[in-house]
Amino acid sequence: MRSKIVAGNWKMNKTLEEAKTLTSELIGMITDEVKGNVKVVLCTPFPYLHPVKQQVGNQARISVGAQNCSEHDWGAYTGETSAAMLKSMDIPYVIVGHSERRQYFGENGVLLAKKVDKVLAQGLTPIFCCGEPLEIREKGTHEQVVTDQVKKSLFHLSAEALQKVVIAYEPVWAIGTGKTATAQQAQEMHAVIRKHLSAKYGQTIANEITILYGGSVNAANAKELFANPDVDGGLVGGASLKSREFVEIIKAIG
Ligand code: PEP
Repeated sequence: MRSKIVAGNWKMNKTLEEAKTLTSELIGMITDEVKGNVKVVLCTPFPYLHPVKQQVGNQARISVGAQNCSEHDWGAYTGETSAAMLKSMDIPYVIVGHSERRQYFGENGVLLAKKVDKVLAQGLTPIFCCGEPLEIREKGTHEQVVTDQVKKSLFHLSAEALQKVVIAYEPVWAIGTGKTATAQQAQEMHAVIRKHLSAKYGQTIANEITILYGGSVNAANAKELFANPDVDGGLVGGASLKSREFVEIIKAIG
């Protein structure tokens, strides 16, 4: 059975006090209201990883994740944070290749393959993001483009390593725009990704990979998106900043 995950990507938002308030609201609501085996990951800004982790304590359902990491382990890379550092803080998840990193920081498939390797080498779980921009969707080449992103950054992995990766399909035109992919569009692309994983690694392994949908997920659309057979949860940006909204999304996974 694949893991069901709802991850919140806080991006560069909230003061420390606000982050603590959000975390304590989430802990309370999740403890009281969330049933089943869905895992929740809070991907906070780097400075808040430690305090949020302290607050979460040993709540089994909730983990803390980083939004990026360096392709290097240690050294003279001012401003960077490595997977080795995250490991030393016991942070189990790292988002790799978010479209904002690709767009604003020039991250490409080759670099992202190195980051995935670093995360896996530390025994952490990469949440690897892929997804097409609007012009590619309009041209109709989205399947090709997304498949290429997955192949470039993940297909060098052994089957054993790949099984530790979580993939997030996030069409760029749906991120932060309020324009969600339809449930059918999401399912189609998740099935395409799984088909290519199956062609390379076999059906059994492909069936075990958790594939999240991201792009303007909210409390109103989450249930329909998560009901798809190949959608195993969500990577949520804006709506993860509001405790009530985020908890309703978590509950939508059923
Ligand atoms: C994201 O940042 O990964 C994301 C999906 O953002 P939003 O939910 O705001 O579209």
